[in-house]
Amino acid sequence: MHRRSIYTIAFVFITFLSYLSLYHCLTRSTMSSATRSSVADLARELIRIESITPVDGGCQTVVHHRLSKIGFTCETLQYHDVTNLWAFRGDLKSKQPLLVFAGHTDIVPPGPLEAWTYHPFDGFIDDQNILHGRGAVDMKGGIASFLVALEDFISSHPNHSYSIGVIITSDEEGKAEYGTKMVVEELLRRGIHINMAIIGEPSSYETVGDFIKIGRRGSLGGELTIKGIQGHVAYPHQSLNPIHESLGALKDLVDMKWNDGTEDFGPTTFQISNINAGTGARNVVPGFKTVVFNFRYSPASTEENIKSRVEKILDNHSLNYEIDWHDVSSNLFVS
Ligand SMILES: [Zn+2]
Repeated sequence: MHRRSIYTIAFVFITFLSYLSLYHCLTRSTMSSATRSSVADLARELIRIESITPVDGGCQTVVHHRLSKIGFTCETLQYHDVTNLWAFRGDLKSKQPLLVFAGHTDIVPPGPLEAWTYHPFDGFIDDQNILHGRGAVDMKGGIASFLVALEDFISSHPNHSYSIGVIITSDEEGKAEYGTKMVVEELLRRGIHINMAIIGEPSSYETVGDFIKIGRRGSLGGELTIKGIQGHVAYPHQSLNPIHESLGALKDLVDMKWNDGTEDFGPTTFQISNINAGTGARNVVPGFKTVVFNFRYSPASTEENIKSRVEKILDNHSLNYEIDWHDVSSNLFVS
């Protein structure tokens, strides 16, 4: 990659960071108020669309229109129920390097609406100039920031010396099987190679750039089914209560120190996200209980090591159980 390209890529990256920074602190920025409202307005427009994984709900149409106006060629790549957008500006057949902005329009479910101070799909800006809503941080705010940054950059540098691409998917929060991975595979089939990618995911804590991610932890999830014997609560000696039987094992799993992490990654963590048992009747001992859990693991753990330790804990409590492991596609990597 020649020097001019490196400079210009650095410049567009800094422009993006400026807008991201601007987005994070709407009032403290030195940017013009017109630009400020442009980023906020676009983020609000996206937040108002209920794009719960894998539904895009029209978010990518908004992005598509904005990019088309500044000379991007846009294409929708639909794989099963996942909508992806691939857009580029420049000559992909030349030797120009390709810089890609990547993101996702999907969000996780909002949970009970009454638990929200502000409606999750209103995009409300409070008197502290904080924008509220599902996806404000992860990552409709990031998309709005890089889109406005691109509009600004291209208006002043219409003849940039490299190609710019945008990849947006509607499935990052879910299984992510038919999202970015499939788009990149399709681009490789077409002979398109990405030299550098900027992902608008939230990673900072207090200010933009105070935390730089150099990889990601592995994600390993599972659904544990603990088997008991259904019966009447009045005759517990005739049943085996899987809720009671599993309490000790679940406590051991929750209390377990999996490792100390590494120099770059924190310790491996275990979280239970769902527990279900019971027939709904108040007088029936359930026949089984399901526990959905997830590990985010550092390089100090391996998938096999975690699995064997979990099974050992469950065996120590003499439980009758099955585990359906999943999320194994979310492998750990360090770049
Ligand atoms: Zn995200």
